[in-house]
Amino acid sequence: MCIDHRVTCKCGTYTASFNFREEIMPVEVINRLYCPQCSSDISCNADSMISDNGWIIDFDMDVARFAGYKLSGVPITPEYLFDQGYCTWRGVYPMDHIDSVREREELVKLSKIDPKKYIEEIRQWGTVRMERLAREGWRKANAGQ
Ligand SMILES: [Zn+2]
Repeated sequence: MCIDHRVTCKCGTYTASFNFREEIMPVEVINRLYCPQCSSDISCNADSMISDNGWIIDFDMDVARFAGYKLSGVPITPEYLFDQGYCTWRGVYPMDHIDSVREREELVKLSKIDPKKYIEEIRQWGTVRMERLAREGWRKANAGQ
């Protein structure tokens, strides 16, 4: 079960969507979100922050530890919260849900012009996209590689 929560970055330029696996973490676990523009003013503190391709999530680790009492035996770290999905991007990267809808719409347009090409493109779309995102350096696209 996943609920979509939107968080705006500190400078207010971007909004990212988050997933909270099993809703163990409350949205308050996100202390601050920094987009590539506003993250340039701060340095990443590994005790409470995770950085992903210029974005930084600053967690409230007190909230994380308190809410994470059910996850007994594991040290709750920013990496753990993000990589295990307890507080992570809704897609592969912050704006993924917006871009993927747009990209799919482009493909649907193609289906009317060139149905054969469309079938090829849609088959490859997921794979090609993930390869591109991994190249761009997104943490979730590179997970397990
Ligand atoms: Zn910002």
